[in-house]
Amino acid sequence: MTEKELELLFTVGPVEMEESIIQASAFPLPYFRTEEFSEKVKTIGDLMKQVTHTKSSSEVVLLTASGTGAMEAALLNLFTTLDKVLIVNGGTFGQRFVQLCEILQIPYSSIKLPLGKTLTKGELDFYRNKGYTGLLINALETSTGVYYDLPMIGTFCKQENMLFVVDAIGSFLADPYFMDDWNIDVTIISSQKALSVAPGISIVLLNEKGRERIKRKNVPSLYFNFKNYFLDMKEGQTPFTPAIGVLLQLHQRLEKIREIGVPAINSRTRVLAEHFRERIKSLPFKILSESLSNTLTPLSPTHADAYQVYLYLKKNNIYVNPNGGELKSKLFRVGHIGNLTIEDNEKLIALLFEMERNGLL
Ligand SMILES: *Cc1c(COP(=O)(O)O)cnc(C)c1O
Repeated sequence: MTEKELELLFTVGPVEMEESIIQASAFPLPYFRTEEFSEKVKTIGDLMKQVTHTKSSSEVVLLTASGTGAMEAALLNLFTTLDKVLIVNGGTFGQRFVQLCEILQIPYSSIKLPLGKTLTKGELDFYRNKGYTGLLINALETSTGVYYDLPMIGTFCKQENMLFVVDAIGSFLADPYFMDDWNIDVTIISSQKALSVAPGISIVLLNEKGRERIKRKNVPSLYFNFKNYFLDMKEGQTPFTPAIGVLLQLHQRLEKIREIGVPAINSRTRVLAEHFRERIKSLPFKILSESLSNTLTPLSPTHADAYQVYLYLKKNNIYVNPNGGELKSKLFRVGHIGNLTIEDNEKLIALLFEMERNGLL
């Protein structure tokens, strides 16, 4: 057995991958400026629009970058120093938008939410008629497990004529996602979360409103200029060498999703999440998030140190997500995405009960 086979990942990225996905790139990589590869890339583009529920006239950008690269690229292409954006900031990933706006000198206001709290319509109404041109949010604030009310926020953005930019990286495929119905103009997704392929590819989808904004703009970047990606995508290509192996995995994965359907993946994830939450009810944990996603369960031990729980599980080859900074001792997160099963859940649950019996929780 290889070392990897002994480990079980309840992390939120990378995640457990299906064998058929691993096999999709388990050979020397093909050259990519070919008709055959272009066909695969075109299929990826078409299927990405289908699974996010956006019109075929929307654009798909395939970036070889981690999710943060796509967040930065989206802001570079969409906003300037003349904009004024609203950032929903509930934790590490909301704060990342703040950092990016600082670096790119995009004027912004940050709605800083207390730990575990979601954004309400009442709070948002305060920002009406104040000249904001865009709203930036993470569908799921992955650092704390707060899942936002995207349809409510989309309606607000439409009424206020603000560009609605959603970093859906943490939530996409685990939870339902309807880009057009929810008035989302720009969607950011990354390969290593619920898409459950290797890290390396991020996907940005833009509707007409997003695309028009870019056409008028002088983008101060070569690698991240979306205009070049729009043109190449029509031919099934990317301007620069992509992570070919990850694209092959993504193609395989999307073909599989086409077969089984997005709702099947949403509900598989939901079943795992609900099973886990139900089974650990009697353990000394608190769940601070008032609005959970299927992606993960954030757990705060009432007595134990969260980081010590993470270390104990790691010693047993089970990986959950520790938190950093102020939350290091307070919070860890259990992922439910990727190729996990109820039996896998039971292994983790058994270990948590063992910890309790041994006075470690
Ligand atoms: C994982 C994640 C990202 C991307 O992080 P990278 O390490 O750059 O891939 C961005 N936003 C959210 C909400 C995430 O969960």
